[in-house]
Amino acid sequence: MKFIDTHIHLQDYKARYTTDILSSALSAGVTKFICCGTSPQDWDKVAELSRQGDGRIIPAFGLHPWYIEQGGLDWEQQLEHQLRLFPDALVGECGLDGLKSPPIDKQLDVFRRHIHLAKQYSRPLIIHLVKAQTWLEQMWQELPAKFVLHSFSGSPEFAAEVSRRGGYVSFGLSLFRHKRAAKLVQSVPQEQILLETDGPWQPLPSEDTSRPEQLPQLAQYIAALRGEDTADFAAAVYHNSEEFINVRK
Ligand SMILES: [Zn+2]
Repeated sequence: MKFIDTHIHLQDYKARYTTDILSSALSAGVTKFICCGTSPQDWDKVAELSRQGDGRIIPAFGLHPWYIEQGGLDWEQQLEHQLRLFPDALVGECGLDGLKSPPIDKQLDVFRRHIHLAKQYSRPLIIHLVKAQTWLEQMWQELPAKFVLHSFSGSPEFAAEVSRRGGYVSFGLSLFRHKRAAKLVQSVPQEQILLETDGPWQPLPSEDTSRPEQLPQLAQYIAALRGEDTADFAAAVYHNSEEFINVRK
């Protein structure tokens, strides 16, 4: 089985572990990674990892809602610069977070600027959404052609709505704690499912860090909940991931 970890922060692992992480990921069949930057402070590291990654590490650049205050005045110009430097880069991680500051008006403004750039450069958009469903529900018309709600932890009903609107729903290891996991994974058509670890964050309940080599376990869990064969499910999700990252489609 082959996998693409569609959301990971390789720059956040302790540097000496990154090589180990990548080689054990490869033995587990994880062939590619979308490495998500969260503020101008880590974009250079993301860029560097991508350059060293032999085409396996696809960069994404965004200003995460938690780090808006640290973004500086010219984050938008810097973001555009990275998108020009990396024609395969995605936009994100960005989005809306109802649990954290800054105020929602500021978050909406920053998020809309990401949407604008994603459309202008025809790039997929990686969205972080926590306790902010009602805001996103007023923005369906504004979103670019390709977008994903990463580490989806909302309701099955909302997941179904995201897929009706043409979005991808990405499941991570937090799914093992979701109370309605079965209903949730059954509410999304197979062709709109992606998988991720959000590593090193959001580990399995028994671990202190998440790693891409755990993706087969996640795929097996979801396939079982959906009543599908794990290998068939993994192959379909791999195909979805390739479709998602292909910026020319
Ligand atoms: Zn993340």
